[in-house]
Amino acid sequence: MRKGIAASKGYAIGKVFLKEQDVIVIAHSNCIDVIEEKKRLKRAVEEARNQLIHLRDKTGESIGKEESVVFESHLILLDDPEFIGAASAAVERDNTSAEAAVKSIVDMYLAIFSDMEDEYIKERAADIKDVGNRLLRNLMGRCSTEFPDLPENTVVVAHDLVPSDTAQLDRRKVIAFLTDIGGRTSHSAIIARMLEIPAVVGLQDITSRVKNGDTVIVDGAEGVVIINPQEDTLKLYEDKRVQLEIENDKLKGLIDKKAVTRAGRNIAVAGNIGSVEDVHKVIENGGEGVGLFRTEFLYMDREELPTEEEQFLAYKYVAEKLEGRPLIIRTLDIGGDKRLPYLPMPEEINPFLGYRAIRLCLDRQDVFKTQLRAILRASVFGKVKIMFPMISALKELIKAKEVLWRCMEELKTEEKPFNEAVETGIMIEVPSAAIMADELAGYVDFFSIGTNDLVQYTLAADRMNEKIAYLYDPMHPAVLRLIKMTIDAAHREGKWCGMCGEMAGDEEAIPTLMEYGLDEFSVSAPYILRVKQKIINS
Ligand code: PEP
Ligand code: MG
Repeated sequence: MRKGIAASKGYAIGKVFLKEQDVIVIAHSNCIDVIEEKKRLKRAVEEARNQLIHLRDKTGESIGKEESVVFESHLILLDDPEFIGAASAAVERDNTSAEAAVKSIVDMYLAIFSDMEDEYIKERAADIKDVGNRLLRNLMGRCSTEFPDLPENTVVVAHDLVPSDTAQLDRRKVIAFLTDIGGRTSHSAIIARMLEIPAVVGLQDITSRVKNGDTVIVDGAEGVVIINPQEDTLKLYEDKRVQLEIENDKLKGLIDKKAVTRAGRNIAVAGNIGSVEDVHKVIENGGEGVGLFRTEFLYMDREELPTEEEQFLAYKYVAEKLEGRPLIIRTLDIGGDKRLPYLPMPEEINPFLGYRAIRLCLDRQDVFKTQLRAILRASVFGKVKIMFPMISALKELIKAKEVLWRCMEELKTEEKPFNEAVETGIMIEVPSAAIMADELAGYVDFFSIGTNDLVQYTLAADRMNEKIAYLYDPMHPAVLRLIKMTIDAAHREGKWCGMCGEMAGDEEAIPTLMEYGLDEFSVSAPYILRVKQKIINS
């Protein structure tokens, strides 16, 4: 049995397809014709551009727009003078082949990025490697490591899966994947969750533990892989898999039902979204609204800040699709592990304690105002609410609301319609905010508890660090006290309190949260029906 990082829930039993690592060996060569080598490089870039456009469109259709944007960033790399331009210059400078020049530039960037802990930078390094390999294959006339016609029930095992691999996977045949490297935020993990197939990542050496045709059990909930299991283990997991399918089918009966407790209290169950398309999944799964729109994803995988008009259209789209159900739009929560290539941010020793979220927005009011204006304009198309992240002191909330009022004044002068009574709330995800919740409650319409951060800050246990995962405990009495204090403080002021951190989907925590009087649970779409069921049965 091997243990890795549980990246996407579910059980799968299938046969291994081992994806060979894409090793490209380049003999060092001094070229004779610099002009010809530069032309070859140009042709390889053009070929790569066509391949990437094709992959982008194919992925957009078969998986979703959100996944296809990684190919956009690959296309941008092809136009980057620091990358392709540098390779072309290296041909001339070193009098070397196009292959050797591309490899030297890729290696240089990988060496620079390799020491950085930042997840975002790691993803960018993976992109450069992916594009570099594509160029090398084109130069050498090799086809990509495409997946052959895979049989049904295939479990793909790879050192890592880059976006162009995942785009090629036949979703009817591939039932799970396993990788040596990667964390919960790696592209492969994100895509597995979108496809709703189980995945375990960060298994370290799974590619050397299995061979083609081995039978494996994948337990995506526990992050466990069992290789060539005994008959009785197979039977056990087959039963679990069937049981889960039956449960999921049964849950569909709750799509149009309300989550009413045995005592007759109606609790709202909403969905968390990261892209406009995600709203469809929330509705299909019976979500009663969106409790958290992580807008930062609108800002990622692009070259510049999204304009007010672009954002307005995105928020309006979601608001309209929700047909009157509430939509809580969280203002930009960038910083920490989420960076934007085009927005300068200082290198920080403790980025999670640094220049992020509302702190950055209050400093960059141009960025903040563009977003607030877009949200306000969208507020006439649905039940839009505004939520500020990472509030740690009352003065931040007051400043944020002042900026919001200024935006309202501007829109009035410009005669652009918006909902003047738009509700505003804050995330309670910093211990100081939970402790001061009684004071803060007077200035908001609602709270939403962000346990992902609240737990890490309360227990001083980094949410991204596997080594101290045992300390990261949402049921720690200190965390529970803060949650209870927050809910009580909201209720004393006649305000409501929800939760949009992962804890809201934790079936063990739900009865306690109900007992504390939590008014709304907001979870990712595949968890909505389970939460409803738990509330109804508790
Ligand atoms: C949280 O911190 O619980 C939360 C919902 O925000 P994020 O996970 O985006 O930091
Ligand atoms: Mg947070």
